[in-house]
Amino acid sequence: MENQQQNNTVADNPDHQKLVEQYLDLVPTETSIDAADAVALQDEIRSLLIEKNAVIIAHYYTDPLIQALAEETGGVVSDSLDMARFGNSHAADTLVVAGVKFMGETAKILTPNKRVLMPTLEATCSLDVGCPADEFARFCDQHPDRTVVVYANTSAAVKARADWVVTSSIALQVVDHLDALGEKILWAPDKYLGGYVQKNTGADMLMWDGSCIVHEEFKAKGILDLKKVYPEAAVLVHPESPESVVDIADIVGSTSQLIAAAQKLPHRQMIVATDQGIFYKMQQAVPDKQLLIAPTGGSGANCRSCANCPWMGMNSLQNLRDCLKQGSNEIEVNADIGAQAFTSLERMMNFKV
Ligand code: SF4
Repeated sequence: MENQQQNNTVADNPDHQKLVEQYLDLVPTETSIDAADAVALQDEIRSLLIEKNAVIIAHYYTDPLIQALAEETGGVVSDSLDMARFGNSHAADTLVVAGVKFMGETAKILTPNKRVLMPTLEATCSLDVGCPADEFARFCDQHPDRTVVVYANTSAAVKARADWVVTSSIALQVVDHLDALGEKILWAPDKYLGGYVQKNTGADMLMWDGSCIVHEEFKAKGILDLKKVYPEAAVLVHPESPESVVDIADIVGSTSQLIAAAQKLPHRQMIVATDQGIFYKMQQAVPDKQLLIAPTGGSGANCRSCANCPWMGMNSLQNLRDCLKQGSNEIEVNADIGAQAFTSLERMMNFKV
């Protein structure tokens, strides 16, 4: 069958890997901020938010200082689906999206009448970079019989080419729904999430070759070794992780679903395979539980991510203040592309789980 052959044999594309490496080279060296500077910046941002009628929409993987400020000032900290929903329904004129570029673009597509600013426009995602719109369009053209479903971690132009956009919160349900209608799927860009969805729905899925550089570093062996030290710990895994890691999970889910699971599970310890930024909100949800980051493939120079997304890490209080103050880093989306992408995004927003 085509789907099985394609799903299991899509070879690593060296061109995509090279593209990702080039973007990684642009990530600046980490800078730290002292407590007094952080307090001063937070005060300044609070005033600017009022002055500019703006609100912060932050992803779970951003700096806890940004997450705390977003919450305290009436903004939100969430996964990409809820970030999109929040921006769409909030009354502020300006949305400050702390995350990576596709999140700012999604906010702009859903609310084109609002100003969308980002602390940095350089923060991208290996899934987005590894799925260039022109190449993806050719892939789709070669398979006109398939319904095109793309993950939210893609550019506006790729979303515009899709029939559906999904986040990891609802990917299973949407593909299950399409499969029940007898539709064959063309899936992009995350091969691991796609593989997980295919395994659980049995849908006929043709996969793009893409991956998240953070989640693909998690290793089943490292987690099993950690389980020997903490035998009672539950294993919580984001489905962008490799199949061998997903297979040993107690819970597989999106960031919001993992936080909810941490609350529901009786376990006192959790081994968590996703970006460490989630610990800020997860620990709030389970203050009496011990959270352990799942081991990654390497350390020091051998570790490209160490469970920290380098692009999410480019968001800081300084550049958040700067974009608000100067009105800089405004997200623009071509009107035609935005209108087409809106249709596929709207399907996701209206989908009833
Ligand atoms: S954690 Fe992975 S999927 Fe998320 S933004 Fe970073 S590279 Fe992309």
